[in-house]
Amino acid sequence: METAYKKRLDEFMDYIIAKNPGEKEFHQAVYEVAESLIPFIEENPKYKEAKILERIAEPERVIMFRVPWLDDKGNIQINRGFRIEMNSALGPYKGGLRFHPTVYLGILKFLAFEQVFKNSLTTLPMGGGKGGSDFNPKGKSDNEVMRFCQSFMTELQRHIGPDTDVPAGDIGVGGREIGFLFGQYKRIRNEFTGVLTGKGLNWGGSLIRPEATGYGAVYFAQEMLATRNESFEGKTVLISGSGNVAQYATEKATQLGAKVVTLSDSNGFIYDPDGIDAEKLQFVMELKNVKRGRIKEYVEKYPSAKYFEGQRPWNIASEINGNVIALPCATQNEVSGEEAKHLVDNGLICIAEGANMPSTPEAIEVFLNNKILYGPGKAANAGGVAVSGLEMSQNSIRLQWTREEVDEKLHNIMKSIHATCVKYGTKNDGYINYVDGANIGGFVKVADAMLDQGLV
Ligand code: NDP
Repeated sequence: METAYKKRLDEFMDYIIAKNPGEKEFHQAVYEVAESLIPFIEENPKYKEAKILERIAEPERVIMFRVPWLDDKGNIQINRGFRIEMNSALGPYKGGLRFHPTVYLGILKFLAFEQVFKNSLTTLPMGGGKGGSDFNPKGKSDNEVMRFCQSFMTELQRHIGPDTDVPAGDIGVGGREIGFLFGQYKRIRNEFTGVLTGKGLNWGGSLIRPEATGYGAVYFAQEMLATRNESFEGKTVLISGSGNVAQYATEKATQLGAKVVTLSDSNGFIYDPDGIDAEKLQFVMELKNVKRGRIKEYVEKYPSAKYFEGQRPWNIASEINGNVIALPCATQNEVSGEEAKHLVDNGLICIAEGANMPSTPEAIEVFLNNKILYGPGKAANAGGVAVSGLEMSQNSIRLQWTREEVDEKLHNIMKSIHATCVKYGTKNDGYINYVDGANIGGFVKVADAMLDQGLV
């Protein structure tokens, strides 16, 4: 980066850090975007004069609230709820809810910030937002989860609506939680609207929504691979996580002829050198979605697989004979610089992020310096919110499209996001820097809308 740009970047980050103390994930997300955008903004002074970067990094509204609820023993529990309404230049705020003990303002602001660019890339009319709570659903009964969701929605309902802000799921918020949240919204507001996405199929949900993020990440990787005349056929895939995104990434990669050999959770990972085929994946889905068990139980059922306690899947790459694709699908900062180097030294050709910000800044540097096909989350995992957008469209016209129709639309959206990244990210030597591509491509549409709408 040129010295003048670096100086401007440092000044901007000093300003962000002073305004948002202690929110390190937010600083990291803003830095990653500003690094791409500052040279672009310096060349396009209309954005600089209107202070678009400063405005885009300031949430339009932040809501924080108390969530009191009674556990099964009759004890009072108190959690904190949040909704970050980040940017509404392109449409109603849109973005998931995360229930996880690590949730605090900094995590949700990073996610909301990323969401603005991601939603812009989908081509659909959606602003960006994110929310959640430090509530830990693990080990809670269904009744406890329901009472928590009802209390959470009792406050949240006054801030959201189908034309205002439309939340969805994220870590710890799946079909069960969306059901409880929707039920309480409907009860208080006395209206049946598309105020949440990820709804059940028989009450307003869209086909392919559960699959969308995982499938979309694989479709995006497919497009990246095609730029080098490669495909999933015959490749070995390392996946982290074993939740919603990881499960459907496994399904699609396997359908495309690859062998998925790892899955993980926050306790460790499993390595199955024979591949996690459709039948084994069915077992994982039952284990994770119904029994709510741990991934280590996989090796009890399939003893030829190995379990590694307290480790992440990336260092297993040395056991594989090259041709490796990595799909991190668990959480933020789950690929370190060292792990990235290990992957690159052991035949990594492509990495597409199903999770949000799973690669640390050091890991990203390794991928870019080695000219790996690297698809950042805001492009690669946009399939989830894209189908949420399609769920909103179906709710508005009160129709349900077929599985094939939604899947085809999702596939086309992922191709279009890829094309945007190529347009804004191709360097002089032909290398496609998808980080720059996604950041600049996502920014332009939001920034132009902000210019059109005046100083609001
Ligand atoms: P789920 O709750 O379904 O699954 C999350 C998975 O990640 C679980 O296997 C979980 O393990 C693991 N995990 C969570 N936190 C940690 C941690 N701190 N360390 C290690 N493993 C962890 O969530 P999703 O699959 O929906 O989300 C996964 C990622 O994808 C997140 O980054 C999310 O923001 C992103 N994403 C999700 C979208 C969606 O549509 N669902 C859309 C776009 C992005 P454990 O069971 O032990 O907690």
